[in-house]
Amino acid sequence: MDLRSLIRDVPDFPKEGVIFKDITLLLQNSDALKETTNALIKLLNGQKIDKVVGMESRGFIFGPMLANRLNAGFVPIRKPGKLPSTTLSETYDLEYGTDTLEIHIDAIEKGDKVLIHDDVLATGGTANAACKLIERLGGEIVQCNFLIELTFLNGSSKINGYPTQSLLKY
Ligand code: IMP
Repeated sequence: MDLRSLIRDVPDFPKEGVIFKDITLLLQNSDALKETTNALIKLLNGQKIDKVVGMESRGFIFGPMLANRLNAGFVPIRKPGKLPSTTLSETYDLEYGTDTLEIHIDAIEKGDKVLIHDDVLATGGTANAACKLIERLGGEIVQCNFLIELTFLNGSSKINGYPTQSLLKY
């Protein structure tokens, strides 16, 4: 199945000059949804995972599906002020300004084998901040995987040497 044909380029979203990769056509197609989940699981090559960590908000779509298939738990990483209990935060630089991500301090146990998942790897800032949160909680990052990688932004070089895999590269 040609998954690429179900990724829609939306120019000037969310702001002028950005070409947004829209995955909603893929999500609404039952065969594509199944094939994508199977392919993301295959990227792991059978490695054991205790927790799948997904980033707000599109990491919450495939993240729990992957966790279910891997017999793992799911852990959300969220924007500030969204998680109700005690959190750790990590602030990272954007082109203009900064952004912050949070995780519950009791979400990862020392030595947990972690898969970090998000829909798109762009500059790598989000994934890098997620890796730092997992490291600070003592988790072991087995892989960072993405549905889409925008290779021209070189995000994988930001992910501190952790194994990085993506299904569709642009
Ligand atoms: P990064 O931090 O620059 O790597 O951006 C990655 C984050 O921005 C991810 O959480 C993505 O969901 C989101 N993102 C960036 N570009 C796109 C896009 O073209 N389509 C969908 N999400 C995007």
